Amino acid sequence: MLRCDKCRGRAIIHQKYSGLHLCQSHFEEDVHRKIRESLRKTRIFSRGARLALALSGGKDSSTLLYVLKTLFSERKDIEIVAVLIDEGIAGYRPQTLQRARGLAERLEVPYVEKSFREAFDATTDQVASYDQKQAPCSFCGVMRKTLLNRTARELGADALATGHNLDDEAQTVLLNCLRGDVDRLFRLRPKRAQPGMVPRIKPLQRVPEKETALYAITHQLYPFDSGSCPHISDAMRLEVKSMLNDLEARHPGTKYSLLKGLERILALQPESSFQARPCQRCGEPSGNGICQSCLLLDRLSEGKAFKCRCYSKPSQ
Ligand code: SF4
Repeated sequence: MLRCDKCRGRAIIHQKYSGLHLCQSHFEEDVHRKIRESLRKTRIFSRGARLALALSGGKDSSTLLYVLKTLFSERKDIEIVAVLIDEGIAGYRPQTLQRARGLAERLEVPYVEKSFREAFDATTDQVASYDQKQAPCSFCGVMRKTLLNRTARELGADALATGHNLDDEAQTVLLNCLRGDVDRLFRLRPKRAQPGMVPRIKPLQRVPEKETALYAITHQLYPFDSGSCPHISDAMRLEVKSMLNDLEARHPGTKYSLLKGLERILALQPESSFQARPCQRCGEPSGNGICQSCLLLDRLSEGKAFKCRCYSKPSQ
């Protein structure tokens, strides 16, 4: 039996990047520490705040909700509201939404539900059926981001927390580098306040995916065999994911190095010149007068395929 390096109890994980074996309680402490450090950097919670949390029912967002609820249990001035989005994916999303509702109820966290059908009169299944080459993830990712921001704003939230973990962040950095997309690399910096945009935070940014999964499973937040979205389609991201896992196994700490590298690059240009303007069609924040969601909906109504340029993590 492997022993915890901190207390000699039974180890449940070996973190190759730190060299430590950890038992259940020291593993938990380690995850909480990483999340607390990320939260501290946002400077949002030094005073009272309302936090909207994107809860999909997957391992990452479920772990995030559970940990934040635990960390803020003594803070009566912090309110968490879960936001559940139904993208319209038959055979998959109804089950994950059911899980998300169950978790929110178990943790006594209020939640609101929104759907693509109601908000945009379109669903991800519809997009997938129109044109197989069209990337449903591209549509789904952009519309989800818009609907999350809109809902968080309507809730009067001070921040919107998403469940992006270390693997997601490292994959995004590498993808943008491989595609030579420096603009998108710079877009990863924390957003300053913009009219209509709720600041997004990623408290799991320093927690590896395997650890969010282990946390979720050991706290019965998520079933081991949970299935996956039938439309998952960002082939290049999947290749990068497997490449990074390979590199991490041979060179532990690679994913953290990518994240640190990103922080150093962003420090070279800490301020963004991006100025949001209300979209002329829907009023949501946009870069150039028409937001991405309206452009996608236009293409959809014209029956045109759109090329996937959205490198956001597929939201599962
Ligand atoms: Fe949407 Fe995620 Fe499914 Fe892609 S994999 S279609 S982003 S739910």
